[in-house]
Amino acid sequence: MDTTASIDQWMEQHRDWLVGLCSRLIAIPSENRPPHGLERDVQHLFRQELEALGFQVDLYELDEVEGLREHPAYWPGRDYTDRPNLWAHKPGSGGGRSLLFSGHADVVIGSHAGQYPPYQPTITGNRLYGRGSNDMKGGMAAALLAFYYLQQHDVQLKGDLAFESVVDEEMGGANGTLAGRLRGHHADAAIIPEPTNLRVCTSHLGGVTWRITVHGKGGMGFGGEELCNPIYGIARIVTEIERYHTELGDAPAGTPGPVPGTKPNVVLSLIRAGHFDPGASDGIPESCMLELWLECYPGQTLEELEATFAARIRALCAEPGMRPYRVEWEQVTRFIPGTVADTGLAGVLAGALSEEGHPPLQAEMSPFACDAFMFNEYSPTPAVICGPVGENAHASDEFVDVDSLLKLARAYIETILQWCGETKPANG
Ligand SMILES: [Zn+2]
Repeated sequence: MDTTASIDQWMEQHRDWLVGLCSRLIAIPSENRPPHGLERDVQHLFRQELEALGFQVDLYELDEVEGLREHPAYWPGRDYTDRPNLWAHKPGSGGGRSLLFSGHADVVIGSHAGQYPPYQPTITGNRLYGRGSNDMKGGMAAALLAFYYLQQHDVQLKGDLAFESVVDEEMGGANGTLAGRLRGHHADAAIIPEPTNLRVCTSHLGGVTWRITVHGKGGMGFGGEELCNPIYGIARIVTEIERYHTELGDAPAGTPGPVPGTKPNVVLSLIRAGHFDPGASDGIPESCMLELWLECYPGQTLEELEATFAARIRALCAEPGMRPYRVEWEQVTRFIPGTVADTGLAGVLAGALSEEGHPPLQAEMSPFACDAFMFNEYSPTPAVICGPVGENAHASDEFVDVDSLLKLARAYIETILQWCGETKPANG
């Protein structure tokens, strides 16, 4: 095996390779636009790259996967036409543990509100800007850089090495990840390179998106009719949501997995009222709607969120001041449970990422929900989340820290070698 210094040197020499691959991935606007998604060209790019890295690649349509639509975890209403999943693998020589890197090809819709255009990847110092740079094309590109290193150094692994790029992860999709599990793509453990700031997360938050619509009585009341503004109604609900958010306590006793420092978020993401164009609004709207992503700890259920959060809002809606309104509830996304992965892979990753002279990294809980639950709940493959440093996921000016991608790729190499085992030590 190479010495530490020579791996670092190799990494530095391949910085442009990594930034180049990452930029090509970012330049493809693989937006998830329910019920559709535009992931196809990313999957073809991955196919090309992985074939060049000596992997056997399988692009398959979700509709080919037997039992997918009938599975209890399948979330209906999505269209998977021309949105293939990608699976790639390199068989080991035998006797080692298998490892899978699994990520999602889709991104949330690009924002043009910032300084950097979402689909023209831009390097500023150590930052690579662009939609998906952080969530999560950067981490996936880092995995490919690790594979490239192993290929160049002629490393023969004992265990199988696999890579997966799924469609439809954002907006609670997760059917792409489910399809991979049902197709029989299992491993002894998986790494999900979602952005964790180089931390090793063996558990993650869950959550659900709800839509609350308040109906009132709109118009201008010229005939003396009694009107009722739904915006006032929703304002009370918003205030109650904010109160709920600020009063959120620590994790309940017995919450599974490592917890410290991670708190569920309450994300009020959308409020909409009126059917007029701005500047031409002239009357009280008929209704007002909000959407809200509500997170929870592992072990908490949708029923518990109903009993705590939803019950509180419903109690408010029963108060006299809210009687003129009719309030509707709708669950917009699937409920994603928070889950915990039990695997020795976490220790290997933590060892590979720990800095010399510092205490070893401890496993943590990721402060977001992701597709790890599909692995942990519905497959024999435990999934650990571990990815790069970056900011502004799902916002304007999303970026990934390029140095962190190189560190990550280096840790992936060490983890692959330790986990899968080498048939013969590489020269170095
Ligand atoms: Zn993501």
